[in-house]
Amino acid sequence: MTRKDRTRAPRPHTGGAKASIAIAASAAAVAATVWAVATVVEPGHHPPRAEASARSAAPVRQQVPEGITHDSEAGKGAVDITIDDGPDPTWTPKVLHVLAKYDAKAVFCMIGPRAKDHPDLVKQVVAAGHRLCDHTMDHDVTMDKKPVAYQEQQILDARALIEEAAGGRTPVAYYRAPGGAFTLESRRIAAAQGMRPLGWNVDSKDFAKPGAGTIAGTVEKEIENGPTVLFHDGGGNRSQTVEALDRVLSRLKEEGRPTGFPVRTGPSS
Ligand SMILES: [Zn+2]
Repeated sequence: MTRKDRTRAPRPHTGGAKASIAIAASAAAVAATVWAVATVVEPGHHPPRAEASARSAAPVRQQVPEGITHDSEAGKGAVDITIDDGPDPTWTPKVLHVLAKYDAKAVFCMIGPRAKDHPDLVKQVVAAGHRLCDHTMDHDVTMDKKPVAYQEQQILDARALIEEAAGGRTPVAYYRAPGGAFTLESRRIAAAQGMRPLGWNVDSKDFAKPGAGTIAGTVEKEIENGPTVLFHDGGGNRSQTVEALDRVLSRLKEEGRPTGFPVRTGPSS
């Protein structure tokens, strides 16, 4: 059975701890080897030029590793801001405004139908130099327990809507599973389409609305866990997020720490 066949093979619907452990172990084994697999180039294999130029209007996809990325392109000390669950007509512009105030860059993990409803916001995000991330169609946090065909539909349909909303020329750079519900299969599906699986190191816990001071304090306390910080511009009133993001970016500027993007092409540590 080829690697491609395995990706597409339906997974048995077995539950239980034993199955979970087996899946986790196999995921770890593959994660350890995935960078090597992703960089294999068959001798004598060249992409057909005519076909490539005929599709020049479509986003160019580049093979990326299937491992979940946690590092920053901007190097040690940099912080990767990620903004989930939008776009939202009220809160996304306010988040964009704060990011612009500090000349900070972020990744926006968008839900497909919301991107379709607000293409103007998706285009604003891209125009401001931020990057796009696929956050599925329905934000199903139990999708890791669902059939592979369902996971594939959730990921690929959302990517198509986000890219269309962006104007068709900006590839979606990352895939983030809702609630972190990644599977080996979903990571493979995303990576095969040039979307690097994206995790997080610091959950600001802004979703629970504990107050802007608490959100900013959580980020400050946990920032040494790693560079990628999770915020939200969807899911209700995000005024605390906007205020907390302002405080976090102000503090980072004082400390001379730049914002950057999560790595797409290198192995994750
Ligand atoms: Zn989410």
